[in-house]
Parts: sequence; C-alpha cells; structure tokens
Amino acid sequence: MLLPKFEYHEPGRLSEACALMAELGEGARPLAGGTDLLVNMKKNLIKPRHVVYLGRIKEITSLKQDSKGFSLGSFMNIADIAGSPLISDKLPALSEGAAGLGSPLVRNLATIGGNIASARPAADMPPPLMVYGARIKLNRKGRSRLIAIEEFFTGPGKTLLKAGEILSEIIIDEPPVFSGASYIKFGMRRALEISLVSAASFISLESPEGIITKARIALGAVGPVPLRARSAEAVLVGEKPSASLFERAADAAVTDARPIDDFRGSAEYRRDMVKVLTRRTLEAALKRASH
Ligand SMILES: Cc1cc2nc3c(=O)[nH]c(=O)nc-3n(C[C@H](O)[C@H](O)[C@H](O)COP(=O)(O)OP(=O)(O)OC[C@H]3O[C@@H](n4cnc5c(N)ncnc54)[C@H](O)[C@@H]3O)c2cc1C
Repeated sequence: MLLPKFEYHEPGRLSEACALMAELGEGARPLAGGTDLLVNMKKNLIKPRHVVYLGRIKEITSLKQDSKGFSLGSFMNIADIAGSPLISDKLPALSEGAAGLGSPLVRNLATIGGNIASARPAADMPPPLMVYGARIKLNRKGRSRLIAIEEFFTGPGKTLLKAGEILSEIIIDEPPVFSGASYIKFGMRRALEISLVSAASFISLESPEGIITKARIALGAVGPVPLRARSAEAVLVGEKPSASLFERAADAAVTDARPIDDFRGSAEYRRDMVKVLTRRTLEAALKRASH
C-alpha cells in the first residue's frame, strides 16, 4: 500500500505551524507520530493535500512541572510518558495507560496529542486524563482556547478541533494529598491489543482513613466517546471507602456504560467487565490514596 501524494511541511515553531495551517485551509492535516494518520492515508481513508509535521516544534515536546501541576507537550511520545519517573510517581494512572498502549514500536512513535486527536473510543490516554481533570490547549493562528478533555470528544473519530487548530498542551493540576488513581485496560491478548473495555478511577480522601471527597471514573470502549461514570461517582462521594461501597459503585458504572456488540465482544460481556474493572481500579486508587 502506497501513500497518496501530498505536500510535506516542517515548521519549527508553533506560531509558524498555526499560520501554515490557516494558510493551507481544510486540505491540511497535522502529522505527529503517524501511527494513525499514515495508516489511514495508506488505506485511502483520508487524502490530505498537505501534511504539517509537528515534530520539529520544541515547545510541544516536553513535560513541565510548576507549583500548580504539570504540562505535557502534545508531541511527547507514549514511550517517554511510560518511562517518566515523575509521571509514574505523581500521575500513575497515566503511566499505566501509556505502558499498555500498542507495542514498543508503536509507543516510540505515537504521541499523546495524536492519541487524543484521533478520538478513538478505545484509546488509552483519554480515560486516565479525564479522571485527573486534564484540560487541553487548542491553538489557531493568533488565538488559543483551553477546554476540559472530556468535552473534546463528540463521536468516534470526531472532536471539537476546528480546521487549522493544533493541540499543543495537556494541563493537569497536581493531585491533592490523600488522592490516588488507577487505569486498567482489558483486551483479549496481553500485548498489541485495542481495549475491549478500559476504566480509570480517581478518588480523593478527607484523610487517610476518611470519607471520599471527590471521585472521578472514566470508561473507554463502551460508548461512542470515552465516558464519565457519573452515577458511580455519586455513589462514592461523602462515603467511607469499603468493599461494599465499591461494589455498589461498580454496579452503578454498568448503568453509565453504553456498550455495543462488535467482533471484539458482546455488549453484555463488556458490561460485566465494566463492573470488574471499576471495582479493581477503585481498590488500586484507594491503596494509592491511603499512604
Ligand atoms: C499496531 C498499532 C497498535 C495500536 N495500539 C493502540 C493501543 O493499544 N491503544 C491506543 O490508544 N491506540 C493504539 N493505536 C493507535 C495509535 O497508535 C494511537 O492513537 C497514537 O497515539 C496516535 O498518535 P500519533 O502521534 O501516531 O498520531 P498521528 O497518526 O500522527 O495523528 C492522528 C490524528 O491526530 C491528528 N493530530 C496529531 N497530533 C495532533 C495535534 N497536536 N493537534 C491536532 N491534531 C493532531 C492527526 O492529524 C491525525 O488526524 C495503535 C496503532 C497501531 C498502528
């Protein structure tokens, strides 16, 4: 399979890339790791006339930390996220999402921005980012906007990205003390597997033995977009963590999911797995929150 013909551009700054995208109009596509875009171009599913490579833009390649939290450049690759001791210490659910994405080859190329922008319902980065309350920065020539990641997805492969817009940064506040999060992806194989179901949970406690003051649960591959399990979250807030509480929250998460039958698995099986993964991620999040 050959790539269709296109013109290739390699801007060195974000402002240059935005100007180029504005000038080239609808026929231009940003290129990051290419693990999604180039595959779709080879399959003739999309034929951009111009491809704007983002890998020379230094501003969007690094991880920054300040007193408020973290900023991840959209061009950070998944292997660097999985291998970062800072992310594994402070944002372990994100580290878990990155470590299980694709294969070493895919992780070395794929970027966090590309994973978000491709908007696959089973993508591994959105659920952990959603439970950490991440916001994303979208840039167009001369202006930028910040939106909550969970508002970004509008359908499979569809987002709020406007023509010419580039995702530059993912911003995550420092998680509070006595909080913890976890992400588990479930597929039929151990490696190189797109999730059949995935779940991420975040809980924040009043004190190590105290009540749950904040809970966020996000589910992947059980709806057209990654979903917040809001009725499950409502079960948890204001209560003391316990096995029976987590069981009730897991039952509620099943009602939040909107799975379909497909070649990977039935909707019924997916519902069963939502329950199992919600409970397991809550247990792991609690362990991290309590010390
Ligand atoms: C063999 C294989 C296994 C895979 N396994 C998994 C898996 O287990 N889990 C998973 O989640 N995914 C998986 N994927 C899908 C893919 O690797 C990821 O979604 C990857 O993170 C995409 O990132 P990328 O940098 O390669 O994006 P690209 O392919 O470069 O771009 C993807 C899309 O996003 C747009 N885009 C990229 N960056 C930006 C930006 N900064 N601003 C605006 N738009 C942008 C592009 O225009 C394009 O439409 C797999 C893919 C392959 C080929």
